[in-house]
Amino acid sequence: MRRIGIIGGMSWESTQLYYRLVNERVRAAKGGLSSAPLLIHSVDFAPVAAMQAAGDWDGLTSMMVEAGCDLKAAGVQALAIATNTMHKMADAVTVATGLPLIHIADPTAQAIRAAGLSRVALLATRFTMEQDFYRDRLAAAGLSVLIPEAAERAEIHRIIYEELCRGLVRDDSRVLYAGIIRGLRDKGAQAVILGCTEITMLVRPQDMDLPLFDTTGLHAAAIADWAMAA
Ligand code: GLU
Repeated sequence: MRRIGIIGGMSWESTQLYYRLVNERVRAAKGGLSSAPLLIHSVDFAPVAAMQAAGDWDGLTSMMVEAGCDLKAAGVQALAIATNTMHKMADAVTVATGLPLIHIADPTAQAIRAAGLSRVALLATRFTMEQDFYRDRLAAAGLSVLIPEAAERAEIHRIIYEELCRGLVRDDSRVLYAGIIRGLRDKGAQAVILGCTEITMLVRPQDMDLPLFDTTGLHAAAIADWAMAA
C-alpha cells in the first residue's frame, strides 16, 4: 500500500473520523489485520480559526505549505487536507510539495454525478460557501451549486465553530439545519453537500428531506482507495 499524509486537526473532531473511516475501508477491502499506512500532521486549530476569521489567508497558506513539506520529508507519497475550507490552499500545497493531492471536492462531485444529480446545495463554513475556490471546482465538474441565504449561512458557520468543532452536537442545531435544507429543496436543490467535515456529526440522513453527500466519508474513501491502489 502507498503511504499518504493527512493534514488534519481542523478540527480534530473530524480528523478522528477520517482515521477511523480510512482504516475501516482498508480492513473491509483487504481483511484480517490490514490497516492504512499513513501519517497525520495535526495542527492547533485555535490559531488557524483566528487567522481565518481575520482573513489572514497568506499566513494560513504558509502554515499549510509547511505541514505538507513536513509530511513529504517524512516520506509520504501523496497528501490530503482533512477540511473543505483549507482546500483554499490546495494548489499552493501541491506546487510547493510536488506531491499529488487528493482533493475533497473531486470524489464528492463524482458521487453526485454518479447518482445522476447536478443541482446541489452546499452547506459549509462561510468561507467555503461564499468564496470561489470550492464552488468553482464543483462547477468545473458539471454541478450547479446553491447556497443558503446570508442569515442562514451565518448560523451554519456559527454552529460549525461554536459547537461541532468543540464536540457539541445539539438537537436544536439539527432542526435548524433540517429547516435550511428544506428551504433549499424548495428552491430546486436535488441533494446537499455536507461541505464541512464536521457536519456529518450533526446531520443524519433520516432527518433530512434531500439526499446527503458527506465530504468526510467520500474523501476518506478516496484516501483509502488511493492507498490500496498500489
Ligand atoms: N472542518 C471544516 C471544513 O471542512 C471547518 C474547519 C476549518 O475551517 O477547517 O471546512
